Amino acid sequence: MMPGAKSPLAIAVHGGAGTLDPALMTPDKEAAYRAALGRAVRSGHQVLLAGGSSLDAVEAAVRVLEDSPLFNAGRGSVFNAQGLHEMDAAVMRGSDLGTGAVAGVQNVKNPVSLARRVMERSGHVLLSGRGAFEFAHQQRVELEDDAYFFDQLRHDQWQEVRGTAAVRLDHSEGEKKFGTVGAVALDAHGNLAAATSTGGMTNKRWGRIGDSPVPGAGTYANNATCAVSCTGNGEAFLRAVAAHDVHALMAYKGLSLQEAVRTVVHEKLPPLDGEGGLIAVDRQGHLVLDFNCTGMYRASINAQGVEQAAIFR
Ligand code: ASP
Repeated sequence: MMPGAKSPLAIAVHGGAGTLDPALMTPDKEAAYRAALGRAVRSGHQVLLAGGSSLDAVEAAVRVLEDSPLFNAGRGSVFNAQGLHEMDAAVMRGSDLGTGAVAGVQNVKNPVSLARRVMERSGHVLLSGRGAFEFAHQQRVELEDDAYFFDQLRHDQWQEVRGTAAVRLDHSEGEKKFGTVGAVALDAHGNLAAATSTGGMTNKRWGRIGDSPVPGAGTYANNATCAVSCTGNGEAFLRAVAAHDVHALMAYKGLSLQEAVRTVVHEKLPPLDGEGGLIAVDRQGHLVLDFNCTGMYRASINAQGVEQAAIFR
């Protein structure tokens, strides 16, 4: 950016993607999802309008989604095989590739904010499990007891597979839903940032970690190209290094954001069973929200200030 020049502002959020059945979407349910997505994207946009950083904006937006029981992150996180909630989250800043992430953390109200503390105050990039919890304690981030994370629907989902080896996505009957949340933003200084937060998969065992907290897999930001947050079958997104691949196609092949996202979502992920989608913004403020399944909970506010929210195509 030229000194004094102002970059356009842009922000997008997602609340997961999947095989969503429009027939199961009642008007009330749809209104509740749209309201939560709208609240999230506007809270991030307010930060940008006030001259705040893209990092502040994505953290604010993701916190709203983590506080909602509708999404598989924070409060609404799914149950693992022990009946606990183990959450993963990451933030990444495009100006210097600053990154912070946590994996398998319990009882942390807003894992995205803990991930940011890891970036800013730990000297490390990724903390896991008990150590991450000790760090959370030391940093005095907000903690909640197990009851806060209890949700009857997610408990019922877990009962269906409890005691088996099956791992399930966050789902309803006939649906297969990735309820992870994320945000990407471009601020007035031309800086990009991304954040992703998730409860992972129902009945997961062995300290399973998905793509969300892994830099380059589920979350990536680089001012040279774009900021990306993914949702979907984490194992495939890890193998595809999906978020970084969008960056690489732009940086090394000169593709536009739209073409790079299309290549990753529709060509690279499907052969790996990589069902899902991603949201991305480039340094000109172009927004792309794309997915290879029936729907993705999503909302955005573009450089012209136009707000949009959608679930299906
Ligand atoms: N990607 C997440 C994971 O595999 C799941 C999701 O997107 O909902 O942990």
